Amino acid sequence: MIVSGIEIDIVKKDIKNMHLSVLPPDGKVRVSVPKDISDDAIQLFVISKISWIKRQIDDFNSQLRQTNREYVSGESHYIWGQRYRMEVRHTQGNSKIDIKGNKFIFIVRPESTIKQRENTMNEWYRKQLKSKMPDLFSKWEEIIGVHAEEVYVKNMLTKWGTCNVDAKRIWINLQLTKKPPQCLEYVIVHELVHLLEKSHNVRFTQYMDQFLPDWKERKHELNQFIMDCYCNLPTDSL
Ligand SMILES: [Zn+2]
Repeated sequence: MIVSGIEIDIVKKDIKNMHLSVLPPDGKVRVSVPKDISDDAIQLFVISKISWIKRQIDDFNSQLRQTNREYVSGESHYIWGQRYRMEVRHTQGNSKIDIKGNKFIFIVRPESTIKQRENTMNEWYRKQLKSKMPDLFSKWEEIIGVHAEEVYVKNMLTKWGTCNVDAKRIWINLQLTKKPPQCLEYVIVHELVHLLEKSHNVRFTQYMDQFLPDWKERKHELNQFIMDCYCNLPTDSL
């Protein structure tokens, strides 16, 4: 089915309500529908959601473009799930980052390379992440009744967080700074729960349900976004 120029995949299922998803990596639109529903009803449903769908597709496209950043004016950058438009200004002094409204003002030396700009950005992201982590860790360590001996931030391509249970050492992905804050909280709770239960078994799920009843929604939100491709950074202790 095509609605407003957008191709929609229809999946008929044994369900009661229609469910719409815009899927990574390129924003494919899928609607799951009850088996006996009419095409007209599906079309009306999709039309009622069309501005949301377009916004999602737009986000995916700009996320895809993020894999090749040049740190120039006009690029989109994400902080805590919000999209900002980058505005590059030049200075002969130290580089600086300033947020004004939905503008991400990036003040750099005109001759700086993409790599240098990327490092400046990552250091800034690291500071944002580190400003939120201590409070979240102490809050959740108390609730869950565990303690992480070491916590690190690292740029990772395939995992949002990892936990070495024996050493009680947790790694948090720097990329979480780009996702909504509730996603960071979900990852922290997930890794801390590993200190109670090593594997992703029923017991683990029960703990998650107990401590963070909406963890599934947060996880879903996190995985709506693809990860950016970033170069390796040295690891760093909190
Ligand atoms: Zn896990």
